[in-house]
Amino acid sequence: MFVDICRIRVKAGDGGMGAVTFHREKYVAAGGPDGGDGGKGGDVIFQADTNLSTLIDFRYRTKYYAENGAPGAGKNCSGKSGKDIVIRVPKGTIIKEANSGRILADLSGEEPVVIARGGKGGWGNTHFATPTRQIPRFSKPGLPGESYDLILELKLLADVGLVGFPNVGKSTLISVVSEAKPKIANYHFTTLTPVLGVVKVEEGKSFVMADIPGLIEGASEGVGLGHEFLRHVDRCRLIVHVVDVSGSEGRDPVADYETINQELARFDSELAQRPQIVVANKCDLASQEQIDAFADYVKGLGHPFFAISAATKQGLQPLIYQISSLLDTLPPMKAYEPDPVAPYELDPKDKQKFTITIQDGVYIVEADWLMQALGGVNMDDYESLQYFQRVLRFSGIIDKLEEMGIEEGDTVSILNFEFEYVR
Ligand code: GDP
Ligand code: MG
Repeated sequence: MFVDICRIRVKAGDGGMGAVTFHREKYVAAGGPDGGDGGKGGDVIFQADTNLSTLIDFRYRTKYYAENGAPGAGKNCSGKSGKDIVIRVPKGTIIKEANSGRILADLSGEEPVVIARGGKGGWGNTHFATPTRQIPRFSKPGLPGESYDLILELKLLADVGLVGFPNVGKSTLISVVSEAKPKIANYHFTTLTPVLGVVKVEEGKSFVMADIPGLIEGASEGVGLGHEFLRHVDRCRLIVHVVDVSGSEGRDPVADYETINQELARFDSELAQRPQIVVANKCDLASQEQIDAFADYVKGLGHPFFAISAATKQGLQPLIYQISSLLDTLPPMKAYEPDPVAPYELDPKDKQKFTITIQDGVYIVEADWLMQALGGVNMDDYESLQYFQRVLRFSGIIDKLEEMGIEEGDTVSILNFEFEYVR
């Protein structure tokens, strides 16, 4: 079964707990703290895989969790990092955050993409030794890993999309110009899966063609396939509109052509404006008058026109050359950029919304929003630290600390960090 949209939940691993241990050695009095840090949680990573063509696996498994970081241990041993989880998806899958619809990534390339980041490990008690607190009997828990509800949406990567009524010969056409072997049958509703084929133009030159079912086929079946498949035309740079010019099923080619175009426009008005080549198929069954009349109509619209017979393989070469040279003039296939994430903006309402308590001479700062604002801060990175300080200043935390009488060298504890206060 072909599945091209699904919803899953992913969660990166939590950071491991820091350790509380003390140095022990024979003949040596109790030593200092030596608890190592917790390990980082594993990331959730997506990778495009050309061997996959549907999202069906995600019907059966909808939850993906990366491993948590291991706790730290004595002798300053850091905990093991949690294993990443790599989720393979068909090439062309777009990953969106389910609630906001925000695009996180377009898996059209080879590069793996990290979607949910593992939490940092908590500090072991080694970090918490100060001149006044030589026996720190605590450590910090790791930060939680990111989690998301995701919508995965497959939008096939094809240069050319074949559209048209059922039974006009789309599947036959792709089967004679490429290696693709779709089902061909003389009844409607045969093609319920988009099929991709590589069309070789000449040595070293080719393009990808997609046989797109749906439209009338699925719509009339009432199984929700109506316009569904049109998402796969979305990236196509060129539409090849196939019409049965012989009217072998008793319909009028012009009426067919207009109906399909209306369907395209109904799905997305931009789609109806996409460059189009019109192909009159089944010429072996049509009279010259039928072909000429339809050709005049199409030329009046300003679209390139080709008369072929897919079944008897007539007129295919000129069509392929025309598609290829038109593609050369068209912009590259559409890629979706991730929607930018607004950097965390401190809400002025958050000002003053924090508590500071003093325990054993340590100033402990707590607030709901700290995790969101500072969870990603890397204490070893200069710019990150600058940001950290800006947030503390903006939120009024620094002022409050000073008001409470903090002095140079005193210890401040925020989230899973502790640092010395410097004026
Ligand atoms: P699709 O539904 O658009 O994919 O159409 P198919 O490729 O499955 O073809 C439907 C029927 O039309 C099949 O029986 C084909 O053999 C037949 N057919 C396709 N192209 C031609 C053609 O050029 N001439 C004739 N006579 N029959 C054709
Ligand atoms: Mg078909």
